[in-house]
Amino acid sequence: MPSTPNSTTEFNNPTLEILITAGQLQKRIGEMGAEITRDYAGRRPELICVLKGAVLFMSDLMRAIDLNLSIDFIAVSSYGKGKNSTGEVRIVKDLDEPLEGRDIILVEDILDTGLTLSYLVNNFRSRGATSIRIVTLLNKPERRKVEVTPDYCGFNIPDKFVVGYGLDYAERYRNLPYIGVVKE
Ligand code: 5GP
Repeated sequence: MPSTPNSTTEFNNPTLEILITAGQLQKRIGEMGAEITRDYAGRRPELICVLKGAVLFMSDLMRAIDLNLSIDFIAVSSYGKGKNSTGEVRIVKDLDEPLEGRDIILVEDILDTGLTLSYLVNNFRSRGATSIRIVTLLNKPERRKVEVTPDYCGFNIPDKFVVGYGLDYAERYRNLPYIGVVKE
């Protein structure tokens, strides 16, 4: 028998504690999609996914939004992340389409210090977007260094390093359908 990727061992990983189950994620994303659908009725928003972590959230969220929308992707890297964060952000993959005149919904996996999103919001403003709102699946309010308030937020979580559902630890765990905390 060929071995299957994503074995049961990975999905029920003994080194992880489940923080938010797959069911809880899907239920909340359904609610967020319905809220965005109501708020943007009659408009054609552009959803911009911040790679790579937000990719699973983006794909579920966009299916929960009943509007004529478009999507784009951006990838950033930050200098000196962690203790020595400089707050400097660099775009490593830029958008394919111009932002002028568009209603932008920035889709992020987790709002931590706020440095990434504050950079992106300023950058998108300077490109002439009509409006910019932030939707984040997870939010760690205690960790904020610059003021950024999400317009839509899935879950407020404590100051713990989380993985799964797009989020990685050294590129691992992104494929888990739930959010977990790596055990010490
Ligand atoms: P910020 O600029 O808000 O500090 O950083 C946001 C980015 O930091 C997220 O998009 C994510 O890549 C990373 N990040 C922050 N907290 C966590 C966490 O608990 N787990 C993982 N895997 N990444 C995190």
